[in-house]
Amino acid sequence: MNRGEGACLVCGEQLIYFEKAKKMECSICGRKLASYASCEDNHFVCDKCHAEKGIQYVMDYCLQSHSRNPIQILQELMEYPYIYMHGPEHHIMVGAALITSFHNSGGEVELKAALDEMKARGSQYPGGTCGFWGACGAAVSSGMYISIITQATPLSVKPWRWANEMTSRALAKIAELGGPRCCKRNSFAAAQEAATFTKENLGIIMELDEDIQCDFFKENRECRKKNCPYYG
Ligand SMILES: [Zn+2]
Ligand SMILES: [Zn+2]
Repeated sequence: MNRGEGACLVCGEQLIYFEKAKKMECSICGRKLASYASCEDNHFVCDKCHAEKGIQYVMDYCLQSHSRNPIQILQELMEYPYIYMHGPEHHIMVGAALITSFHNSGGEVELKAALDEMKARGSQYPGGTCGFWGACGAAVSSGMYISIITQATPLSVKPWRWANEMTSRALAKIAELGGPRCCKRNSFAAAQEAATFTKENLGIIMELDEDIQCDFFKENRECRKKNCPYYG
């Protein structure tokens, strides 16, 4: 499948860019919206449909996965053309990959219900919060994962502690790696920390690669390259 900014999401052909925005009809929902690009066959997919298709794929993929490795699940999800380089779908993806690996590693959780809950919670967390609120959505997604699998509520004791501890540990690790934002780097860091946390506190052991290699740097203008531990 074609990935990247230059390919049409409907047919895979190259995109043509306009000097001025044109009213285009979304190939999926039919809404007419301004766009700066389409393919030669006039295909255009609006942001809302783009996000929905990406998230639906995350749900379907996780439900049928047998993987115990959250990083591997994330990397495969990230290859899908409807997942952006950066974007709030990562706020769902990190938790979904963790719930799936937890389940496949023997963790007790009703997978479908947990993934649906992850989608509901992760969808509420806006983009850009890493820089604007000081709390990266990939880190919060790992906290949501712990909250969901331990059924934490604002009134629980141990699960409440775990969920908050999880988010804070993921945030500390993400902060240490430094800005600017990269949804791939932050997702890998949060998932790595969450796998370690899960082993320490819940005794469930996921598969985790010592060496994580990211090959999305080609699509990331702000990649820290040699200063990122995942730079391929
Ligand atoms: Zn097309
Ligand atoms: Zn649409």
